[in-house]
Amino acid sequence: MKIIRKKEQLREAIEAAKKKGNIIAFVPTMGALHKGHLSLVKKAREVADIVVVSIFVNPTQFGPKEDFSKYPRVENEDINMLENEKVSMAYLPTNDDIYPNGAHADIEAGKNSDILCGAFRPGHFDGVVTVVKKLFEQVSPDVAIFGEKDYQQLYLIRRMAQKYFPSIGIIGMPTLREVDGLAMSSRNRYLSEKERVIAVEIFRAMEIIKQRLDEKDASVTDLEDWAKDYLLEKGFSSVDYAEIRDAETLEKVFDIVSPARILVAAKLGRTRLIDNISIG
Ligand code: AMP
Repeated sequence: MKIIRKKEQLREAIEAAKKKGNIIAFVPTMGALHKGHLSLVKKAREVADIVVVSIFVNPTQFGPKEDFSKYPRVENEDINMLENEKVSMAYLPTNDDIYPNGAHADIEAGKNSDILCGAFRPGHFDGVVTVVKKLFEQVSPDVAIFGEKDYQQLYLIRRMAQKYFPSIGIIGMPTLREVDGLAMSSRNRYLSEKERVIAVEIFRAMEIIKQRLDEKDASVTDLEDWAKDYLLEKGFSSVDYAEIRDAETLEKVFDIVSPARILVAAKLGRTRLIDNISIG
């Protein structure tokens, strides 16, 4: 595996790979890798000859009071995991390689970037689409793989890619979970033992909503309200949202007539967890 830290070095390696006619798949990450990330890498290996994984904790997607400075950084562990997965290139750029003119978001994520997570993390998705656009420019992949775990992010990246990189295929992959159902996440490292036990309740709440919707036991809005109360009762410190939205458009739904998604974000102590599942 090539470990690449400068964009010039990356350009050379990518040019050489392309000259040989290789298909390139790209998996952007912020590191602190887990099996969820590795499932994206495995998919990348299935669909391409060359797999590029980036590790970059992107400052522009964190708010001033968020966890940018304490976000887990475990570079050696990450590199070992990627080597084991036979990744071709690990790209660990410096801030300067991504933001030579200072770290700011220079494109907007647009419609539906201010709902759900965007309502609670102003500017977050502008930072996300900005960094992914810059990475796409540098890596120029044929395909890029993202997780459904960050469902709104995937939706906004698809739209950004359609606009700026219509030839890049975007693949969304299902969420990998721990045995009890908790979605794997780099932020799970923050959880105390006690919090870890409570954390799974997000998944449980979503499963209960799904079942009650199947049984037509309650309305969408009643179940959204129920989930918030349930999570607070289980020990979450706050619930940013528990919503049911159209799976394609992310618009609000009141009846499940087409594929929909239950999406939840809640704080456990200082750790903010998000998750979603499909319904309908
Ligand atoms: P992150 O490092 O959190 O920015 O995530 C990098 C990529 O991994 C994103 O496309 C995420 O959606 C994806 N991802 C994160 N957690 C999981 C998971 N549990 N299962 C599958 N993909 C995931």
